[in-house]
Amino acid sequence: MIAHPLRSPFPKGNHKVCPYRENTMSLEKYHSKRDFTRTPEPAGEKDSPAREGDLPHRFVIQKHHARTLHYDLRLEEGGVLKSWAVPKGPSLDPADKRLAVEVEDHPLEYGDFEGSIPDGEYGAGRVIVWDRGTFEAAGEGETFAEMLERGAAKIRFNGEKLRGGFALVRTRWGGKANNWLLIKEKDGHARTGYDVTAEEPLSVLSGRDVDEVE
Ligand code: MN
Repeated sequence: MIAHPLRSPFPKGNHKVCPYRENTMSLEKYHSKRDFTRTPEPAGEKDSPAREGDLPHRFVIQKHHARTLHYDLRLEEGGVLKSWAVPKGPSLDPADKRLAVEVEDHPLEYGDFEGSIPDGEYGAGRVIVWDRGTFEAAGEGETFAEMLERGAAKIRFNGEKLRGGFALVRTRWGGKANNWLLIKEKDGHARTGYDVTAEEPLSVLSGRDVDEVE
């Protein structure tokens, strides 16, 4: 793997280890779907810590060529990566409302994962790190967890491709509680008519496109 020139926002050792893990329940679904003797995906350390204090949250967007190509948005909260599958990927154009389907929480270690999930395994196909960095919850007097609970989060990305404000809003389209919309806010980072997934297709980690992963 080619070393990425920028420092990983998922470094080891910048968080304190808690004596127990409150998010164990939330990773049960992640673990139950996968056979870690077959998939190269990280199982996640059992005692992977929730970070303490007011550190910036980390995010990653993985480009995943499974049965269909899609993008997986993952936002750090409470010691795990809250996750959404975004079929069309994010957009920097405020006119685009991108469907984001909430899926199971992933371990923090997933933020560094690029690789090929073998045929027959859950999510079989190739994965690259399409973008990553940190984000801030931009709600007034509300934590990110509270905004997610309410189903309306304002976040400010500081990534390599995604920057500035976005809204992530639960819709309950078709009566489904796991459907959200990801929408760029109108700010200095908005780019009307620009197709960021087409113009900037490669991994920020390795410079590869998704089908170049072995
Ligand atoms: Mn996926």
